[in-house]
Amino acid sequence: MGNETYSVRGRIFDIQKFSVHDGPGIRTIVFLKGCVLRCRWCCNPESQAWDIESMLQPDPSSPDRKIRKTIGCDTTVGEILQTVLQDKPYYRRSGGGVTLSGGESLCQPAFARALLTACRENGVNTAMETTLCAEWETVESLLSLVDTFLVDIKHMDSEKHRTFTTQPNETILANARALAARGAHMIVRVPVIPTFNDTPAELHAIASFAYEELGLEEMHILPYHKLGYDKYVGLGREYPMGDLPSPDKARMELLRNVCASTGITCHIGG
Ligand code: SF4
Repeated sequence: MGNETYSVRGRIFDIQKFSVHDGPGIRTIVFLKGCVLRCRWCCNPESQAWDIESMLQPDPSSPDRKIRKTIGCDTTVGEILQTVLQDKPYYRRSGGGVTLSGGESLCQPAFARALLTACRENGVNTAMETTLCAEWETVESLLSLVDTFLVDIKHMDSEKHRTFTTQPNETILANARALAARGAHMIVRVPVIPTFNDTPAELHAIASFAYEELGLEEMHILPYHKLGYDKYVGLGREYPMGDLPSPDKARMELLRNVCASTGITCHIGG
């Protein structure tokens, strides 16, 4: 691997080790900063802006007290790789590796490309959680470096997609079709959001797209939760979802069965 690859700089806001929800096996998740969408339910609101921010959060040594934490830092591929490689024995035993998440990695394509290249050259399996909301040329530039694309398909209706995320879905769906046509390994992931996409008809439409049009074998449905609420407070932002409850187990089972009726294998959770 060339020195230039190691020294490519990018902006991240977190690295989480030992994740079992974002791709196969045990994984290290690298969270890149910046996203073009503004989903109302986003549980990582600190990921959205490119700017480095500060967020109030409980002081671990005195939970009643708040401390201000800086969100985001500029780093290099080499620095991240050092952390990633610490867990290589776990990846090997579990079939895991590294997952780029965010935010949206496609907002930093040169950094994502260098990081994926470095992982590949060090024998680390790669996955990318993505909205695919970018020019096809950007997606294509990473295609050969990603073992598994975890693709968020949030809604088949473009206007409703725009209302809840600020962006229409045509580019996303076109990129998903193009990736499938190129034989990329993809798993569709759907956040199940009350008032947005939690009806059988809406989930069935996404599952049909994934199974019949994209030819995929697997999808995941992820129940909405309010775990990001405190982050909005810490950022001084209003929580856009109000008091909406999470879908209960029976609702998620119903929706899973609706998706599975298309022929696709559908799991609840990551
Ligand atoms: S695409 Fe993901 S990171 Fe971006 S706003 Fe939506 S939920 Fe948040």
